[in-house]
Formats: sequence, structure tokens, C-alpha cells
Amino acid sequence: MNLILLGYPGSGKGTQASVLSEKFSLFHISTGDIFREAISAKTALGQEVSGYLSAGRLVPDKLVLDVIKTRLATETRGLLFDGFPRTVDQARELDDYFASRSQGIDAVIFLDVDEEAVVARLGSRRTCPKCQKIYNLLTSPPVKEGLCDACGEKLILREDDKPEVIRRRILVYKDQTEPLVAYYKGMGNFCMVKGGKDPESVTQEIAAVLKIKNV
Ligand code: ADP
Ligand code: ZN
Repeated sequence: MNLILLGYPGSGKGTQASVLSEKFSLFHISTGDIFREAISAKTALGQEVSGYLSAGRLVPDKLVLDVIKTRLATETRGLLFDGFPRTVDQARELDDYFASRSQGIDAVIFLDVDEEAVVARLGSRRTCPKCQKIYNLLTSPPVKEGLCDACGEKLILREDDKPEVIRRRILVYKDQTEPLVAYYKGMGNFCMVKGGKDPESVTQEIAAVLKIKNV
């Protein structure tokens, strides 16, 4: 089974991807996490992408595709994409990749959340820089204030979750990523899930949709 999660920044892709990859034994591939890890490890890739992330702009397709291809080269599990593809060109490349392996995308799950809701969520989101666990100060705070429940690391406000950058990311999403909705609707494997509820209900709804679709 190969799945794609699509939606605004802050629509819950990362949170759902963690739970779903566990539940269905899929390989969770988050380009955002890969880039943030590269930045904190100060690798050549990290240096190349850091300016794009802190400005809320997209990393160039060529770089993203190289990273994806390297990660997938040795992976045999089903795949769960979170934050990729983000442009129509990336989506086309992914289709070619699957076609060359006689595979396909079983479902594209669009997490439908209002723009105002994602802006509010991103502002109160805190992230663990070590294990990438995601918190929300209002709806899912850590047990100990400011510290990750899973690993004890100090939580951070992501550089790109600052108000000016949030606005840029929303614009970039509308301009470059939203066209993927029409792209995937045309392919027949598109599923829309209301993403405004609590994370557990959203997971249940995704699981139900996948079952109905026989994925
Ligand atoms: P969110 O979905 O909350 O914006 P991500 O962690 O998916 O967060 O992405 C963070 C940043 O990483 C993006 O703003 C962009 O700069 C970069 N990025 C991640 N995935 C891609 C991609 N597929 N193509 C281009 N840039 C990407
Ligand atoms: Zn942690």
C-alpha cells in the first residue's frame, strides 16, 4: 500500500503520518523532517536547504527528488508520503517512479482544514527537535511544560512557525501545492477527510475511508 497525505501546512499530515505508518506498517517519509535533520546535523544538504525552510519557500524540485530517490532506493515496505509531492512536477516524477516499478499510489488523502484553523494551529505548535514529535499548546500539550513526553528534549517553536513565515507558507501552498488536488482528483484515488477534529477521530476517519476504498 502506498499513500500520500496532502493538505495545508498545519493540517495534521505529520501527526497522522506517525500514527498511520505504525498502524499499517508503512515507511513514513517526511521531506520536511529529512531537511530539518540535515540542517541540525549541518550536512551539505542541510546547508543547501536551510534558507528555503526558514523563509517558508519550497526547496527546488531537483534537490527534493534526489533526496526521495536516495531514501526509496533500498525500501521495500509500503510508503506513506508526508509533505511530498508538493508541486505538480514532483507528482509527475513520483508517478513515473511508481510506473517504472509496476506500482501505484493507492490513495491520496486530503486533510481538509480551514485556512484560519491552520494558521492558529501553526502558531501554537511546538516540535521536538530530537524525535520530531509534534505538540499543540492548546489541544495536545506535553505532560511537563516545554519538554518532550517521548524523549525529554526541550520543545521548540519551528523557525517557519513564526507568523511572517506562516503567511508565506500558506501563499506558497495555494500557489504550488493546491493544484495537486485537481491533479489527483483526475486520477481517481483521491479521498477527502475532514481534518478539523481531534487527531484520533481523524485517524479513524482515514482508516474508514481506506477500508471503503478497499485499499
Ligand atoms: P509543513 O507541511 O507544516 O509546511 P513540512 O515539514 O512538510 O511542513 O515542510 C517544511 C518545509 O520544508 C517547507 O516549507 C519547504 O521549505 C520544505 N519542503 C518540505 N517538503 C518539500 C517538498 N516536497 N518540496 C519542496 N520543499 C519541501
Ligand atoms: Zn522528543
